[in-house]
Amino acid sequence: MEGEDDSRWSDWEESDGEGGQGSGAGRFLPLCVPSTSGAELFKTAAEALAHDASNNNFDVRRIVKELRVGFYDCMKLVNYVRESVAAGVLVTEASLVDGTDKAWMDDKYLIPFMENDSLLFELDGALGLDAESGDAEDPPAQSDSESTRVRALEEENEALRRAVQELRESLKVAGTFIDQADAPADRESASRLKNVRIDKNYFDSYAGFGIHREMLSDRPRMVAYRSAIELNASDLARGKDVLDVGCGTGILSMIAARAGARAVCAVDGSPAIAEAARAIVEENSLGSVVQVRGGLIEKEGTIPEGYKCDVIISEWMGYCLLYESMLFSVLHARDKYLRPGGCVMPDVARIHVAGCGEASVGSGFWDDVEGFSMRTVGKKLLERELRSQAHVVDVSGAWVNTSDAVVTEFDLCKVTADEVRSFSSEFELTQATGQGKIHALVVWFDTLFSARHCKTEEVVLTTGPREDKTHWAQTLLVLPEPVSALDREEALLCRMTFQQHSEDYRGLQIVLEYGTSRAKDGTYPHAAQFELV
Ligand code: SAH
Repeated sequence: MEGEDDSRWSDWEESDGEGGQGSGAGRFLPLCVPSTSGAELFKTAAEALAHDASNNNFDVRRIVKELRVGFYDCMKLVNYVRESVAAGVLVTEASLVDGTDKAWMDDKYLIPFMENDSLLFELDGALGLDAESGDAEDPPAQSDSESTRVRALEEENEALRRAVQELRESLKVAGTFIDQADAPADRESASRLKNVRIDKNYFDSYAGFGIHREMLSDRPRMVAYRSAIELNASDLARGKDVLDVGCGTGILSMIAARAGARAVCAVDGSPAIAEAARAIVEENSLGSVVQVRGGLIEKEGTIPEGYKCDVIISEWMGYCLLYESMLFSVLHARDKYLRPGGCVMPDVARIHVAGCGEASVGSGFWDDVEGFSMRTVGKKLLERELRSQAHVVDVSGAWVNTSDAVVTEFDLCKVTADEVRSFSSEFELTQATGQGKIHALVVWFDTLFSARHCKTEEVVLTTGPREDKTHWAQTLLVLPEPVSALDREEALLCRMTFQQHSEDYRGLQIVLEYGTSRAKDGTYPHAAQFELV
């Protein structure tokens, strides 16, 4: 992600068009030409690549053959070369073939550098890739004349073009791409491409200042982090090496620096916000303590080799605690960079749940609009929007009509990624008399700066429905049918399963099984599934 700059996309979009602006009638831009503007475009991909080989000393066919790479690696190569050429960086055939230059292997190069790059659509044919294995075939026998060679390539290209029509189309949309890749290796690459796209959207969403302003204005959040660090400065900051995972504007790093940290390494995967953080740190004359690094925490090179810290500070929580899947990045940092005995702050996270009455399902608004009933709309919305979608909404404490339960508690100093990726929990909810039907469950979380490390004062950040509002609001799971009010003797028995979303690894799937009794085999009479994507 590091170094991605959206302006480069628009540059290409402006200059790239069907038919191009080059002298030929073609639409294929050779690789060693920095832009379509004023360039000679060729009628086939094979011709464009042949041009690179004869005029620019860059024979992609040879590179592909030497490296014995498949279709997706070829895509990466093309996008890498395009990016380098556009940036004026020299890429040589030799450095790619002998493996000195490995930068092209990064999955980010699965994303086309140039929008509608015709060359990518014809790549398989032009490079003589075997659709099954993805390996480059032997080049056809060289003829004396360049045009015979080009014709042979064209024929080969045409046959393959038909065979992989669907795959080429799907290049445009990662979502369909994955459905159409059959071979296991293709599926793996397609799924990685999908994740790269998910990450691109994710980090783009943190590139603007609006989202950071929202977080910086979230008082419960800010007060919890600031007081945890400042009140426990001797445990968390003074003389410590602190790693801020996902520093955003650098706020937590600067609080740690002000509280006496020896050195703070502030990392953010969104290049734009990392740059802003650098400027903010300078603006506050903290450059000697806080060093900002742009790049994914997981990516080699973002953090210097051998780096270790005493404290990891991070605000990684998403809706329903786990949405965004950023916790995995924190656990990665913990396992790689934290010294033995060091701490992750916050160090405990809990997911809570409770039942809610009818007001929570939102029909209230539609019951009376200027004295008119619009219940039909309310009902439809409920059916369409709320059911099966987990709904992020500010839930009023007054809507809660059962006891609370803890779904799970994570010790962030110990929990493993697998334990977070999927877990189930059983719990019971009870009611006092007259609390009415249960229409939904509300889920929220607390994070703790616990007494284990915060010896001076434990701090709790809670996002519960009875507490001050935070930007996380709460997550509402609307039941398919309301549960009748419980007797004094009864409890609503529930099992909740959280799972990383199978289609979007930053999303969540929640399965809720429930009922006032369970069958002998332990199954629950009702079940509902929700997703947060
Ligand atoms: N710490 C800041 C920002 C929190 S938002 C604050 O408290 O205000 C989370 C930030 O983490 C975002 O800016 C996002 O870009 C960054 N981030 C998420 N995953 C990351 C990863 N794997 N590597 C580096 N940064 C990451």
